[in-house]
Amino acid sequence: MTSTTGDRLLEFDEVVDRYEPVIGLETHVELGTASKMFCGCSTTFGAEPNTQTCPVCLALPGSLPVANAAAIEATIRIGLALGCRIASWSRFARKNYFYPDIPKGYQTSQYDEPLCTAGHLDVEVDGETYRVEIERVHLEEDTGKNLHVGGATGRIQGADHSLVDFNRAGIPLVEIVTRPVPGTGAKAPEVARAYVTELREILLTLGVSEVKMEQGNLRCDVNTSLAPVGSLEWGTRTETKNVNSLRSVERAVRFEMRRQAALLDDGVRIMQETRHFHEDTGSTSAGRSKEEATDYRYFPEPDLVPLAPDAAWIEELRLALPELPPARRARLQEEWGVSGTEMQWLANAGALGLVEQTVAAGASPGDARKWWLGDLARRANEAGVELAELAITPAQVAELAGLVDAGTVNDKLARQVLDGVLAGQGGPAEVVAAQGLAVMGESDELVAAVDAAIAGAPDVVAKVQSGKVQALGALVGAVMKTTRGKADAATVKRMLEERLLAG
Ligand SMILES: [Zn+2]
Repeated sequence: MTSTTGDRLLEFDEVVDRYEPVIGLETHVELGTASKMFCGCSTTFGAEPNTQTCPVCLALPGSLPVANAAAIEATIRIGLALGCRIASWSRFARKNYFYPDIPKGYQTSQYDEPLCTAGHLDVEVDGETYRVEIERVHLEEDTGKNLHVGGATGRIQGADHSLVDFNRAGIPLVEIVTRPVPGTGAKAPEVARAYVTELREILLTLGVSEVKMEQGNLRCDVNTSLAPVGSLEWGTRTETKNVNSLRSVERAVRFEMRRQAALLDDGVRIMQETRHFHEDTGSTSAGRSKEEATDYRYFPEPDLVPLAPDAAWIEELRLALPELPPARRARLQEEWGVSGTEMQWLANAGALGLVEQTVAAGASPGDARKWWLGDLARRANEAGVELAELAITPAQVAELAGLVDAGTVNDKLARQVLDGVLAGQGGPAEVVAAQGLAVMGESDELVAAVDAAIAGAPDVVAKVQSGKVQALGALVGAVMKTTRGKADAATVKRMLEERLLAG
């Protein structure tokens, strides 16, 4: 079995029969602070290149950094939410490497003295709980962004020239690193996805980041290794960089497992390397080899004072944490009266917040779940996007559910309304008005259609009048057909009964 990328892939079932995966995730989160990590520059996304810079984030000689207190607080809150130990003493360090998008020639990061260590995050997949140990949560700064112009791929190979935008340079970045996660077997791809989903929920709940994966607020590096079942040693891992959607996290792990297993079957050694993920094919390709570890020559940042957060302040932050996702799920499960499995399903589909907002906008919990997990989930899946990326808001879903409740549209018409909304034709009521999608009342048009159905099928009418009332169904069907589904079936049935069975 070969893939379109030329890699030989083993069938997933065969992979998990014979190999044990170990996964690990490194997640970078851009914090939503108003200003950058070490200067006062704005962090607003999408501004003209290089307009949000100053001597500090451009690393001009003589400029000195000052740490952003809001970013430190946000990092500690993330650590607390993940059950981490918060360091009473922590330092920034210089991570030295040269790349055009880091103006200083080093990144200010944390090395052996991170702010938070030893936490965990529990995720549930198919009724099974997996504990993901968190090794560390540390604070650093983002790099600028290179833009390679003139090539087909946007990569540096084949480009005419490159541009660099330093607006992003110095935006506070939190890195959350898990310990290796063994024991997930065939569920490894789903556990990886569930972990990022749950982490994203926590970050959203804390309000520390917008966590828009498509804007790069949340970026994942996914480590995957395989070892033969029963082996006492773990295999060599690859690190798939910058996986930028929940779905891609799952696909990247699955692909790497299948690719590595085929190599191991052939007796080929797995290279320790970084790999690029390709959204279009769901495949990975080789990046930089990591066989020789890069020496970043870390040393403590001499321009910043060490961080020594006060224990009382940490306790205050702990007590002020909002209701976290597991507690929130338990409460909503009770309020909505659904099973634990369905709640987990909602959460893993990224639908929990959407359903909650839809209920808040006036829909019943049942209707909100039906729309998000039914038609909308199917459409998101077909389009290969996350539910939240669909061009419809929870308020619009609630409005649509309201139109069905009020009898303005039936289920079939409601799906056409959905098409209109998703195609950007406006809100549900606007689409109904613009396309004339409302269910027909007892209008002249409907009366005419009912009369025509009766006149067109004397044999059926005779059957109905001789007592075979179920034959009425054929007449209802005929009316629904002439009205192209816009009539209300119950109304049509009542009108037919009045005409054929009265007296
Ligand atoms: Zn600046």
